[in-house]
Amino acid sequence: METIENIGGLIIDMDGVLWHGNNPIEGLHDFFSTLRTVNIPFVLATNNASLTQQQYVDKLAKMGVSVLSGEILTSSMATAKYLKKHLPIDKHRVFVIGEDGLREPLIEQGFVLTDLYQVNQPDKGIMDQGADIVVSGLDRKLTWDKLATATLNIRAGAQFFATNADTTLPTELGEVMGNGGTIAALEAATNVKPRCIGKPEPILYQQALETLAIDPSNIIAIGDRLDTDILGAVNAGIRSILVLTGVSTERDISDVDYKPTWVMADIQEVTQTLKSLHNLD
Ligand SMILES: [Mg+2]
Repeated sequence: METIENIGGLIIDMDGVLWHGNNPIEGLHDFFSTLRTVNIPFVLATNNASLTQQQYVDKLAKMGVSVLSGEILTSSMATAKYLKKHLPIDKHRVFVIGEDGLREPLIEQGFVLTDLYQVNQPDKGIMDQGADIVVSGLDRKLTWDKLATATLNIRAGAQFFATNADTTLPTELGEVMGNGGTIAALEAATNVKPRCIGKPEPILYQQALETLAIDPSNIIAIGDRLDTDILGAVNAGIRSILVLTGVSTERDISDVDYKPTWVMADIQEVTQTLKSLHNLD
């Protein structure tokens, strides 16, 4: 395994790396204070679309860690930015399956959110009621009505996007259904595949790289999940550390045809590595 060097910046996943649900992973405080001491800039980049930027800042503050809102990038924020940049200005009506974490950045980027059962009905000449875009993100209040409205809009021609395709989400109790489950239902009902913004697609990491504005060869991604964090790093052309406190195990690595650059037990091992590189304790 290559020696760790040239750490100019980090892109760090949160669920399964920094915490399990509301329980911080051991060494969280020391990890962030070491990053500040050795002056390594970072972006906390998550596929989890449910919380807003400010809610993540607050969550970390409750765990005794202070970060700036600009140091947080969610797949929802990345989705809103991407849609604003790439879609024509007249495509601005969005039906959202998701929580405040997704609704808020879309509104901030100037999109209009449509309601349940607002759909176009071409046979009745109704063409201005529906959504131009359907976006699906993690929604812990998912209902039949939301799935039905998304299905009707996609079948009527709305473009389909997903913040991420994680099939599961780690919680204190174990893994529960992630946004991938919702997308699978909508795909089955519409025969349309969404464009995914989060990891392993490169868009989220690319936006994090733009934020850091450092040569990508000096940046390392840290994550707990091979099929999102690590594959995403490979797709974005950056080095990666797999930590073993979340979804993927060391044994899972042999089942896939890509590899993390390094494997570490947890953020405490990452902290120790940074300290020894900088001759601290
Ligand atoms: Mg994770």
